[in-house]
Amino acid sequence: MEKIRMTTPLVEMDGDEMTRVIWKMIKDKLLLPFIDLKTEYYDLGLEHRNETDDKVTVESAEATKKYGVAVKCATITPNAARMPEYNLKEMWKSPNGTIRAILDGTVFRAPIIVDGITPYIPTWTKPITIARHAYGDVYKNTELRVDQGSKAELKVTDKEGNETFELIYDFEDSAGMIQGLHNKDKSIEGFARSCFNYALDTKQDIWFASKDTISKKYDHRFKDIFAEIFEKEYRARFEETGIEYFYTLIDDAVARVIRSEGGYIWACKNYDGDVMSDMVATAYGSLAMMTSVLVSPDGIYEYEAAHGTVQRHYYRYLKGEKTSTNPVATIYAWTGALRKRGELDGISGLCEFADKLESAVLKTISDGIMTGDLAAISSLENKQTVDTETFLDEIARRLV
Ligand code: NAP
Ligand code: MG
Repeated sequence: MEKIRMTTPLVEMDGDEMTRVIWKMIKDKLLLPFIDLKTEYYDLGLEHRNETDDKVTVESAEATKKYGVAVKCATITPNAARMPEYNLKEMWKSPNGTIRAILDGTVFRAPIIVDGITPYIPTWTKPITIARHAYGDVYKNTELRVDQGSKAELKVTDKEGNETFELIYDFEDSAGMIQGLHNKDKSIEGFARSCFNYALDTKQDIWFASKDTISKKYDHRFKDIFAEIFEKEYRARFEETGIEYFYTLIDDAVARVIRSEGGYIWACKNYDGDVMSDMVATAYGSLAMMTSVLVSPDGIYEYEAAHGTVQRHYYRYLKGEKTSTNPVATIYAWTGALRKRGELDGISGLCEFADKLESAVLKTISDGIMTGDLAAISSLENKQTVDTETFLDEIARRLV
């Protein structure tokens, strides 16, 4: 069989531990036999990040800007324990944080739905994709403990030196605390554009919610920016595509999400996205079935799995054990990136291959062959737990 040819390279970001092992297996068993794979390879494994003083992470993000599509393996974010383990020069920052800062993107997370695994909310028959605005609010706050008898005020000094004051609270009768939050029009505009672009791209409705009735300036500004950008830049294209932008209050959104069947994107403010993405991921069953894509406001895509490097499995692998680590989200990172590359370069064979590979994954699982994490929650009667390698071989068998 002739291999599918590519014209533009994918930016390939290799990673760490068990996912690095799986990365190679996926390429060897599921990609290289079928595609004349063209990638620009960046090794974001912690050893190489350390050797290059983390320059490789920046270079990989710059390459993503150049080519437009990347696929990333999970990587270690160093903590104190990793310093001696990898003999690190510095506690390097999270690669995802570095890449996100350079691409100025929004992360969209969506579950992969398979037969035999029923979400905790059984009416959720389609994926709910969560988009989290990853800037500002409580994650970049300033906090103070306040003694009884103090008065707290907000003060803003403009560029001419004029000051505006607003009383926060007069702490006459008790001590307490205050918190200063901020966000930027520019960041919210980028978030809104990423969300609307991704909705068009995936042909799904998009919901956004805040607490604008209570927060009449702060949250209301989010609502206004979304509305302005939608009217000016997106309404016509949404109507053509047959999708909708829907705004509501956050509490109403939560109630509607629970009653829904899924199949839309839910754009969330930073804190809402933090909390709701964990809720949604848990309800769909397994972190190992959660995909993640970073989308920049100007349409650059970086695909990955939402889970980490599966460290505990890796230590067992190092002892020579065969592990039953789930490669599905990592496979979907590849199919997402290949499909997008195919779309951009007009290579339909690449898009078709991505569809076929995803079908082969789903068929393998619905045939009852799965990794341990899925077997633990699957309702199929004929299910069989296999190790990662066997699972990948079974997928490959269904691919030809
Ligand atoms: P993790 O790698 O997501 O794994 C946590 C646990 O979830 C695993 O021990 C395993 O449970 C289960 N799990 C996750 N993915 C699985 C898969 N594909 N198949 C089967 N089980 C899976 O999180 P972590 O252990 O907290 O973090 C490990 C490293 O990953 C850290 O260094 C962290 O910095 C990094 N990390 C990277 C990213 C990223 O690059 N995007 C994201 C998160 C974390 P059992 O052990 O019970 O089987
Ligand atoms: Mg969280």
